[in-house]
Amino acid sequence: MESTALGGDTVLERLLRGNRRFAAGCCRHPRQDTGRRNALVSGQAPWAAILSCADSRVPPELIFDQGLGDLFVVRVAGSIINDHLLGSLEYAAVGLRVPLLMVLAHSNCGAVAAVASGADLQGHMASLAPAIRPAVDRAGSMEGDLTDNAAREVARMTAGQLTASEPILAPLVRNGQLRITAAFYHLAHGTVELLS
Ligand SMILES: [Zn+2]
Repeated sequence: MESTALGGDTVLERLLRGNRRFAAGCCRHPRQDTGRRNALVSGQAPWAAILSCADSRVPPELIFDQGLGDLFVVRVAGSIINDHLLGSLEYAAVGLRVPLLMVLAHSNCGAVAAVASGADLQGHMASLAPAIRPAVDRAGSMEGDLTDNAAREVARMTAGQLTASEPILAPLVRNGQLRITAAFYHLAHGTVELLS
């Protein structure tokens, strides 16, 4: 599939169809054979970029039932952004011309729960907290589970930061070449919820 030929809405629907297969236990495990592997040696043409939590229960290729070379995935605890991650996503948008960038948070996120609990994070883990804490603060006034609401807020805030990011991503969004969306994965059901 040529990423340049498809729009963000089209590939988002493709992701969601794959997630419905995964959630229903009807995965096809597409494009994971040696033929596909060999076809990708000389280059890649992924059609979506995903910034997801590093949590072992949230592997994008599995929960969206996609194959080798389909998804450009960047992962970090808490689905937050920094310059290295942003540079990687900019490469996906400019170098690989993906039409969709999804920020994927999830339920029962340990990184978000740690910040929400006020735990004293050791070593470099403490560097994650400043990006997560504003979302925890916002979620404090919401009804429902604090950790899950805060994880949703992290995804929304990160997506907002990416949408406003100059000089690469924001112009692509304005020109309609890139769609950026936030989403939330439910561990218990296997489903992905799009966030407004
Ligand atoms: Zn997580």
